[in-house]
Amino acid sequence: MTKLDEHPTVIRHRRRAPAEVPGVLDAEWLRRLCLDAGADDVGFVAIDRSEVDDQRAEILRAFPSTRTLVSLVGRMNPEPVRSPARSAANQEFHASYEHMDEVTRKVVRALGEAGVPAMNPTSAFPMEMDRYPGRIWVVAHKPVAVAAGLGQMGLHRCVIHPVFGSFISLGTILLSRDVAAVSEPIDYNPCVECKLCVAACPVGAIGADGYFNFSACMTHNYREFMSGFTDWVSTIADSRGGDDYRRRVAESESASMWQSLSFKANYKAAYCVAVCPAGEDVIGPFLDDRKRFLEGVVDPLKSKEEPVYVIPGSDAEAHVARRFPWKTIRRVRGLRAGSIPGFLFGLRLTFQREAARGLSATYHFTFTGREPAEATVTIRDRSINVQDGHEGEAQVRITADSDAWLGFLSGTRSLVWAMIRRKIRVRGPLRLLVAFGKCFPS
Ligand code: SF4
Repeated sequence: MTKLDEHPTVIRHRRRAPAEVPGVLDAEWLRRLCLDAGADDVGFVAIDRSEVDDQRAEILRAFPSTRTLVSLVGRMNPEPVRSPARSAANQEFHASYEHMDEVTRKVVRALGEAGVPAMNPTSAFPMEMDRYPGRIWVVAHKPVAVAAGLGQMGLHRCVIHPVFGSFISLGTILLSRDVAAVSEPIDYNPCVECKLCVAACPVGAIGADGYFNFSACMTHNYREFMSGFTDWVSTIADSRGGDDYRRRVAESESASMWQSLSFKANYKAAYCVAVCPAGEDVIGPFLDDRKRFLEGVVDPLKSKEEPVYVIPGSDAEAHVARRFPWKTIRRVRGLRAGSIPGFLFGLRLTFQREAARGLSATYHFTFTGREPAEATVTIRDRSINVQDGHEGEAQVRITADSDAWLGFLSGTRSLVWAMIRRKIRVRGPLRLLVAFGKCFPS
């Protein structure tokens, strides 16, 4: 035995976690550990559950000995989140995520001291930015929380906890042991389908039918995060000087970017969370006096005069012009694909269903050169389907050198230039190619 092994601290830290059978942790002990660390609710999901099928490989890459996912909920204070003073809302969001990171860190420390290795991916940001714009998260907390019985997804695509409602932060701990009891999803959805989130979202990202326009939300709400920040940097680089920059970016927007860089990135809206009345602890004012709730919570956000960031030609731009003419439309660039897999992955996220109205066509893509790939894209009934390989009959066949295609997407190469040099070849009606382009404004 080494000197270190005899050290009292090391001996104390070797106390074993209670287990019903060797290697299986007691659920109540683990739950108490998480609550004592500051979590407000906890659930457990075994790694072989079907709900994590689509992220199991990624989780095991990050922590290969994962046996159980411990899902944790922390509650937020609703009033700052509901305020039109979005600095207060942002402070609450970030404080809540930081608290969750502290909680998961404390639990992982205690587990380690009990001889149970565990790992805590971040609650929100930072993420794995070397993979941007692909899958940057280590674990998707929302489906884990739902599987763990901590709530259900609301119309606004956030988890609604049955008691705390939408005012929660989520964390997940990757645990190297099985847990004696696992949790099941709750058998009802706390979302009351009031559609206030639909009404409040300035960019129309949430459809009343449950459709979610990812790029509308990403472009506005996350303006000072990934794609918005890189667009801002491009704007600086493209500007001919200070006067030109100030023509492109308002003084308040530059100051807001400074604030994001100095403190933490500002969410521009998150109004869907702010107006959500669901949850046992928060629904009272909505049930007591719906009109007063609308006037006090929803209307101030809807009537706020503010810049709203949209991609030119997008569904969001049309929505702001139609529903919120008092807000200022700011036309910006959206997500840019840096690879062919990134382009194909991003098609589902950047698809604009209103632009696709009346379009029914199948496209076969063949990429050659540095990133060879084949894919089938079908647009029908305002929805998109992307498959690997060539499936069925295509009305349009596009064969492209991968670098030429990415250059065309980024705006550094013209489509005409690429077609003249036969770097990009198109077979099929030109109108269907033009219609395809309109579905993915950038
Ligand atoms: S605002 Fe209403 S419809 Fe939207 S998620 Fe909350 S409860 Fe559901």
